[in-house]
Amino acid sequence: MAHHRVAVIPGDGIGTEVIAEGLKVLRALEEVVPGLGLEFTEFPWGCGYYLEHGEMMPKDGLETLGQFDTIYLGGVGWPAKVPEEIAVRGVVLAIRTGFDQYANVRPVKPLVGAPFPLRDKDPQAIDFVVIREGTEGLYVGQGGRYMPGQAGFERWASFRPAFLKSDELAVQIGLYSEHGCRRVMEYAFDLARRRNGKRLVTSCTKVNALNYGMKLWSDIFEEVAEAYPDIRHEWMNADALAMRFVTQPEHFDVVVADNLFGDLLTDLSATLLGGLGMAAGGNIRPGGISMFEPPHGTAPDIAGRGIANPIAALLTAAMMLEELGETPPARLLEHAVADVVREGAIRTPDIGGASTTQEVGDAVANRVVAIEP
Ligand code: NAD
Ligand code: MN
Repeated sequence: MAHHRVAVIPGDGIGTEVIAEGLKVLRALEEVVPGLGLEFTEFPWGCGYYLEHGEMMPKDGLETLGQFDTIYLGGVGWPAKVPEEIAVRGVVLAIRTGFDQYANVRPVKPLVGAPFPLRDKDPQAIDFVVIREGTEGLYVGQGGRYMPGQAGFERWASFRPAFLKSDELAVQIGLYSEHGCRRVMEYAFDLARRRNGKRLVTSCTKVNALNYGMKLWSDIFEEVAEAYPDIRHEWMNADALAMRFVTQPEHFDVVVADNLFGDLLTDLSATLLGGLGMAAGGNIRPGGISMFEPPHGTAPDIAGRGIANPIAALLTAAMMLEELGETPPARLLEHAVADVVREGAIRTPDIGGASTTQEVGDAVANRVVAIEP
């Protein structure tokens, strides 16, 4: 019998609300898939934990998580109570870098019946995946703030003479490595092969302005592409690429982007799915411990009202099952979600309904057990 140990971090705000529905639906799946063998262990880490203990998770948090097969996370952050740079860095970024989860995978395939923002496009013609690099780029947290007279100030200020007279300045470092670029690009090309769709990988770059980091990125992309002669490849500058996500989304198959551009592009592409409440995401470490989190945040504006859309968290759970090697249950869960969205009677306000988070979770759980396997 399979046995999958899942570490669950509900987190803050709607993170806890949507993860509760995720667990409900996964337990329903266990009823109809004998031997699925999921074992959940919950950890109360996040901003509540920080206010009590002065840290977002215990010092040995990563060590603890290292004993699990995978991680299912809701979302952390509570800007009113905990500084933003502490919250997300203390859990989400710590886990991504701690387990070297370099491929952030974000599928973009609109469900029938979901709201769709483009008037002249057929949502069913859109089917692509964005792979965002998850461990490097501008998110490595390096740099500094410098006051005039402080060591380092003159060096940075010298790039523009006008700065010499200026007040405080800040430097944020974007770190790119050959190894880091290569592995995420290989992941993208391998995925294009597995998908066997348009067999096209698009690299998001910006060499014209970012002359070191993006130059390395683009050089490695051309090198990696040579090893995949059966897959077409192309590059676009990030700004133009963002525009194409809106004007010609059906063009894409697999898009590979660095940490910052990928962050922006994936929220943009979520609008093609009906919003952040509908978009799934996984931080993948091939052969290691991956983390599955809906890409949305903790939504303080709607938290506690029971109206968060749990679909993103449910589709994220399906990605988790797939990565655990449980493909038929993953497909069954996606099927149940698609049915509920297509029928349309039960949906949360963000996609035009009046149902609660729990009602959507119940509807999908009921559908999971009703579908003929
Ligand atoms: P957010 O994703 O929480 O919310 C953006 C908007 O989308 C809000 O209007 C919200 O109501 C809506 N929304 C998001 N998810 C929804 C859902 N499932 N159903 C219905 N509506 C939904 O982004 P934000 O407001 O920029 O960030 C809020 C907090 O979350 C911050 O502390 C931020 O740092 C944190 N955050 C955490 C993660 C993470 O843990 N992975 C990711 C993003 C943001
Ligand atoms: Mn983001």
